[in-house]
Amino acid sequence: MGIGSKWYRKSLLTITGIPMVEKLSTTYGKGLASRFIAGETLEEALKEVEELGKLGIMATLDHLGEGIRQLSEAAAYKDQYIKLITGIADCKANSNVSLKPTQMGLALDPAVCYANIRDVVKHARRNRNFVRIDMENTPYTQATIDIVRRLHKEGLTNVGTVLQAYLFRSEQDAAELLRERISLRLVKGAYKESDEVAFQKTSEIIRSFKRIIGLHLENRAYTAIASHDDEIISWVKAYARTKGIPKSAFEFQMLYGLRMNEQAKLAKEGYRIRCYIPYGVMWYPYFTRRLAEKPVNLMMVLKHMSGR
Ligand code: FAD
Repeated sequence: MGIGSKWYRKSLLTITGIPMVEKLSTTYGKGLASRFIAGETLEEALKEVEELGKLGIMATLDHLGEGIRQLSEAAAYKDQYIKLITGIADCKANSNVSLKPTQMGLALDPAVCYANIRDVVKHARRNRNFVRIDMENTPYTQATIDIVRRLHKEGLTNVGTVLQAYLFRSEQDAAELLRERISLRLVKGAYKESDEVAFQKTSEIIRSFKRIIGLHLENRAYTAIASHDDEIISWVKAYARTKGIPKSAFEFQMLYGLRMNEQAKLAKEGYRIRCYIPYGVMWYPYFTRRLAEKPVNLMMVLKHMSGR
C-alpha cells in the first residue's frame, strides 16, 4: 500500500463516528451503500443467500449494528439474531451468522454481552448452525477471545472468532486457539491500529497473514481465509496443492458486493467460498470501513451512483 492509499484509509476511518458526518451519510448515503448491503430486512437478505446459493456460494449473514449506547439495544440485537437463525433454518438456507461483540454489549457490560452471545450460540446449536464472532478493534481483542474460549469450555463449540494478521499478537493467538480447536476466520484487519500493536506495512501484514494461514492449514484445522487479494488467494491454492491439503479443508470468504465474479469462479473451481452478507438499517460504520479499505471500492460506489 503506497503513502497515498494509507492517507486515504486513515482519513476515512477518522471521519467514521463523527455524528454530523454520520447523519449526512445516513440521510443521503443509503443508495451508495446498497452496493455492499443486501437490504434492510431479513427477507431481502435471505433472498440474496438463495441467489448466491444457485452459484454454489455459501453465506454468513450479519445483522448490522455496533457501538451501541444502551444494553436495551444489545437485547434487541440478540432477538434479531435469534430471528435470523430461525429464518435460516426455516428456509434451509446455506448460511451461518456473524455478529459483533460490541453489538451484544461488550463495551457496556461484559457479563451481559456474554449472556447475550451465549443465548445466540445456544439457539444456533439447536438449529445446527454456527456463530462467528467478528473481531473489532484492540480494546476488545482479548475480551472477544475470552468469550469464545469460555463458550467452548461450556461445551458450546459451534462458535468461533477472527484473528487479524496486522496485530503482533495474532501469531501467538493463532497457535493457542489452534491447540484449543477453536474455529477461526483469518483476515488482514480493518481498523486503525497504532504501530505499538500492529504492523503498518502491507508487506509485513501479508507475511504475517501467510504464516498464520500456513500454520492452520498444515495442522489440518478447518480454516476460513477472508480476503479479496489475488496474492493471498493464489498463495493459498498453491500451498494447499503442494502440501496435499484437500479443498474441503478450508474455505475462502469475501464480502458481499466485492469481486462477485471471482467468488463465482472459485465456486466453479470446486473451492468452498462464503460470502459475508450484511443487512439492516445500521449500515454506516460498515460502509465507511469498506470505502476506507480501497479507493477502488469508492470508485465502484461512485460509478453505481452515476448509473454506469
Ligand atoms: P486489500 O488489502 O484490500 O487489497 C489487496 C488487493 O486485493 C488489491 O490490491 C487488489 O488486487 C485486490 N482487491 C481488493 N479489493 C478488491 C476489489 N474490490 N476488486 C478487485 N480487487 C480487489 N476485518 C476485521 O478487522 N474483523 C473482521 O471480523 C473481519 N471480517 C471479515 C470478513 C470477511 C468475509 C472479509 C472478506 C473481510 C473481513 N474483514 C474483517 C476485513 C479485512 O480485515 C480486510 O480489511 C479486508 O478484507 C481488506 O483486505 P483484503 O485482504 O481483502 O485486500
